[in-house]
Amino acid sequence: GPAVVHHTYDVVVIGAGGAGLRAAIEARMRGKRVAILSKSLFGKAHTVMAEGGIAASMGNANSRDNWEVHYRDTMRGGKFLNNWRMAELHAKEAPQRVWELETYGALFDRTPEGKISQRNFGGHQFPRLAHVGDRTGLELIRTLQQKIVSLQQEDQARTGDHESDLRVFHEFTVTELIKDGDRVAGAFGYRRPTGEYVCFHAAAVVLATGGIGKSFKVTSNSWEYTGDGHALALRAGARLINMEFVQFHPTGMVWPPSVKGILVTESVRGDGGVLKNSEGERFMFRYIPDVFREQYATNEDEADRWYTDADNNRRPPELLPRDEVARAINNEVKEGRGSPAGGVFLDIASRRTTEFITKRLPSMYHQFKELADVDITAEPMEVGPTCHYVMGGIEVEPDTAATAVPGLFAAGEVAGGMHGSNRLGGNSLSDLLVFGCRAGAGAADYLDALSGAPAVSDEAVDAALAAAERPFTAMSERGGGEENAYTLHQELQQTMNDLVGIIRRADEMEMALKRLAELRDRIPRVGVSGGRAYNPGWHLALDLRNMLMVSECIAVSALERQESRGGHTRDDYPAMDENWRLELLNCSLVDDEVELGHQPQPAMRADLFDLFELDELKKYYTGDELGGHRAGQG
Ligand code: FAD
Repeated sequence: GPAVVHHTYDVVVIGAGGAGLRAAIEARMRGKRVAILSKSLFGKAHTVMAEGGIAASMGNANSRDNWEVHYRDTMRGGKFLNNWRMAELHAKEAPQRVWELETYGALFDRTPEGKISQRNFGGHQFPRLAHVGDRTGLELIRTLQQKIVSLQQEDQARTGDHESDLRVFHEFTVTELIKDGDRVAGAFGYRRPTGEYVCFHAAAVVLATGGIGKSFKVTSNSWEYTGDGHALALRAGARLINMEFVQFHPTGMVWPPSVKGILVTESVRGDGGVLKNSEGERFMFRYIPDVFREQYATNEDEADRWYTDADNNRRPPELLPRDEVARAINNEVKEGRGSPAGGVFLDIASRRTTEFITKRLPSMYHQFKELADVDITAEPMEVGPTCHYVMGGIEVEPDTAATAVPGLFAAGEVAGGMHGSNRLGGNSLSDLLVFGCRAGAGAADYLDALSGAPAVSDEAVDAALAAAERPFTAMSERGGGEENAYTLHQELQQTMNDLVGIIRRADEMEMALKRLAELRDRIPRVGVSGGRAYNPGWHLALDLRNMLMVSECIAVSALERQESRGGHTRDDYPAMDENWRLELLNCSLVDDEVELGHQPQPAMRADLFDLFELDELKKYYTGDELGGHRAGQG
């Protein structure tokens, strides 16, 4: 068969987004030799697309902000399903991670006094998102890359080779993790431009592959988001949790069709934009749920005053958490009050000056001008929900980012738990840095304690090679591909969009599972012709099995959870059920089939529990649990 090139490192980081780069930096700073692998070009990771900002309670815009307030907001946003330890670490460490970025060279927007500026976002009580216009992700990636280059320069001075201790392999797709017994031993994959196979030997592997959006038809996600890390972890024996929770961002572009799903940042609303239906009504006031009633303004005057006097007014309902806004938009359209292209109107033109809009939202201005021929300083945008983020992911140990597989770590969007049933905007970029750093440290500590390095066997490499070659062999053995990768991908996306989308019902999800089972039979029959060099049909054929596996996890979990919570909305079970808060759903792979399991939600530590008022907890908790609260103990 084809030749396989071998490389050996201490740590292999799969993914060059915020989580992967921060993990690689940490592992290298702890003296490990690190390889960074990324499917796309270096600098093109999904993180680069992040617009609004990074959430950290630095208290620059409102000195009353602190980690406890951020922690409470995060738990509320996730409807208390979050892993509380992750939410605690995240809230406490996010400010340090942002300040540290400045030492790497980041240039954030400033307040008049010269502090890092912080903007408002949905679900955050205070202005909390550090930002660079609406291009924050670009600055984050640029800065982390710059730090990597500076570490490489140190290595050059020390070893004479700038890539001796930290090397980037871009346009490299990992198709399989390699194990030795229980432990991870490396990763196998191919170079996209040449099709050359490479096996990396490493006792520690960090998965930082991002999300799953390409399983859905309408999504803000780019081509890379095929759930590879989720599927690699499953196949290696790790577990996924919370997979029923997929975030539909309320505002994606709906027109023209070619750009449907592309994100319209929440900053438009944070900076004063409002949502209107076809009758010109600012409809969000009708959609404030009971659990949030006290925090949100009930009329337009109060909502508008909040932008200049947040201490004495309540927030506009356009800034409710994303799940609430997405459902409201969905409902307006369903009831016939949608815009011509099937969304609703997002209006900032009538509310802010042209100068303000072009300064604060330059990317949005250009995006609409170029893609839709709409001038957002003069006319409203048309927007609707788009699949944006997966809360579910690999189950990790919060402090170390370790998975159940020894040597395998996970951080960023691919990891689960931190955001519970719904993520707040801005809490991903901070998550990447906090847990990316912890994963790098976790991997280094694991290596320091390791006795006897795991080995990569020839059999394991042969098996990975055969799996990667399968689309070619299917073609040559049968003399023609029985199935086409693009067709199957479209069917998969349509199924997930229509039957496991923003509003779910048992009968539709059962239908989805049936269709997914059919696709599972058909995907191995995909045949690919041509060579291995830059062959997108082949790439898609390999990605498809990952997308399918992730879709099955989402569908079985969504069917099982008989309540509505956060990103999971059931038409047939519209209420949130306090007993379901105690249950986490997990997925593992048994004999190559997705198996669903239940596990209990660990009780929140007492001092964190006491950060909330009893009256608020009553909305989410069972009576039995509330006895442990300070107020209940006299
Ligand atoms: P990514 O940045 O996506 O990196 C994944 C990496 O893994 C890539 O390098 C990819 O090539 C690589 N990879 C994947 N599969 C493989 C494989 N098989 N082999 C090798 N490499 C692989 N969050 C916020 O907090 N604030 C925001 O303002 C914000 N705005 C957003 C705007 C948009 C348009 C989108 C789509 C998301 C936004 N988010 C925002 C969410 C946030 O950007 C992402 O959740 C986050 O960037 C994910 O980072 P990551 O490091 O986990 O993964």
